Amino acid sequence: MAVTCVVGANWGDEGKGKMVDYLAEKSDVVIRFQGGSNAGHTVINQYGKFALHLLPSGVFYPDVVNILGPGVALDMGELIRELDDLKKRGVPEPKVMVSERTQVMLPWHKLFDTYEEERLGARQFGSTRSGIAPFYSDKYAKVGVQAGELFDKEALRDRLGPIVEAKNVLLEHLYHKPTMNLDEVVDRLYEDGMKIRHLIADTSSFLHDAVKKGKNILLEGQLGALRDPDHGIYPFSTSSSTLAGFATVGAGLPPWAITEVIAVVKAYSSAVGAGPFVTELQGEAAHELRERGGDAGEYGAKTGRPRRVGWFDAVATRYGCRMQGATTIALTLLDVLGYLDKIPVCTAYEIDGKQTTEFPLTGTLDRAKPVLEELPGWKQAISHIRTFDQLPKQAKDYVAFVEEQAGVRVGWISVGPRREQTIMRNR
Ligand code: GDP
Repeated sequence: MAVTCVVGANWGDEGKGKMVDYLAEKSDVVIRFQGGSNAGHTVINQYGKFALHLLPSGVFYPDVVNILGPGVALDMGELIRELDDLKKRGVPEPKVMVSERTQVMLPWHKLFDTYEEERLGARQFGSTRSGIAPFYSDKYAKVGVQAGELFDKEALRDRLGPIVEAKNVLLEHLYHKPTMNLDEVVDRLYEDGMKIRHLIADTSSFLHDAVKKGKNILLEGQLGALRDPDHGIYPFSTSSSTLAGFATVGAGLPPWAITEVIAVVKAYSSAVGAGPFVTELQGEAAHELRERGGDAGEYGAKTGRPRRVGWFDAVATRYGCRMQGATTIALTLLDVLGYLDKIPVCTAYEIDGKQTTEFPLTGTLDRAKPVLEELPGWKQAISHIRTFDQLPKQAKDYVAFVEEQAGVRVGWISVGPRREQTIMRNR
């Protein structure tokens, strides 16, 4: 049995979707354990290019069971749309299960996300406005609804009555927007619930059996360590834990089950939304890296917004790998750096005149300046290469540099966005 967690070591967009799609071939189950439709995992395979927002990246293998765990923020409309899209594009019908304990996005979550950003104006967080922060706030304030609760209309009405009443006060008096009608809210949730009722199940007992039978299970994280609400760049973080340590909770597995934590590390840095970003580039250098990055430039898979880009940040990556408890690194997007004569990398921060290699609190991070070194570039395309030995020496040295800085072995190197553009390193 192997229970492998694939998580981001940086700010998200490290290429987790690509790695999960690649690793899912040898898996029986793939589980999303946190987050919602606020980010996109890009997968490019024989069926085309997909940006999966909610579905686990194992959906392209008809034998893999794909689970949305209780830790996920379930946008039912988005789930239905994504499943339809796969069907329209010729992907065989995937096996999908939704935990009966997964909470559903309620109609006001997206509204509040949008209205709050409007209210904050220049101080907004750059939210994708998918309702994530209001969703998790409500979940932990115990005014959420679990998927398995959608089918008793009377009970649903009873529970939602006082909640809608309170939300309407905010809508009317804080945001000055139209209020909601309880009956309409109940009808809509019930109808959406009926459309996915066949997917809802007791996934915890399914997983318990899967572990007992020694199945191969992949846990797919969303965003990255630096967006974790406790250990990331709070408050420019997300609202659910992005760490492997949370994966068993968000999935419904015993903590001892995880056998490997693969931290996906990007060969350079990128971030979407507001918050400190020490190695961020501006001007022409940023433009060039952004246009050459990703599979078609560094633009958000969810929003199409240009991503902020910068050089590899060893301080942030070492911290990200540590917080993830990484046992192996998958180093992605290495091919992108092939245009540079010399590759700048950040090995320390200078804060108030002192150098440090520790990742500080957000307020201090704002004052950090990158201490840069340069590594020799390889100045050639490497996307066709499939073995480590065939990589140019400078690219191998870059991998060794990442390993040394992070203190974790690089087990996979991704040299392009397609499934097959992956190098597995022998142990
Ligand atoms: P995720 O959310 O971590 O799955 O990452 P995203 O899908 O948001 O962003 C990663 C971007 O990089 C996507 O455009 C991928 O197609 C692309 N990508 C992934 N791995 C590689 C790689 O090794 N090389 C290149 N050039 N692009 C990659």
